Amino acid sequence: MKKCDLCHMPDKIHYRVKSICHKEWIVCCRKCWNVISNHNNYSYGGTRKAK
Ligand SMILES: [Zn+2]
Repeated sequence: MKKCDLCHMPDKIHYRVKSICHKEWIVCCRKCWNVISNHNNYSYGGTRKAK
């Protein structure tokens, strides 16, 4: 399993996102995605599933 770039919790599914706080693409878990999706300049770049 891959780890979230923010909280480093391993999970099977991550979301590729950018926001005002994260100018480069990061991959984060659903919990962190909920937080980031409320940031300014949020953009969503797809879902990454671990095999
Ligand atoms: Zn996370």
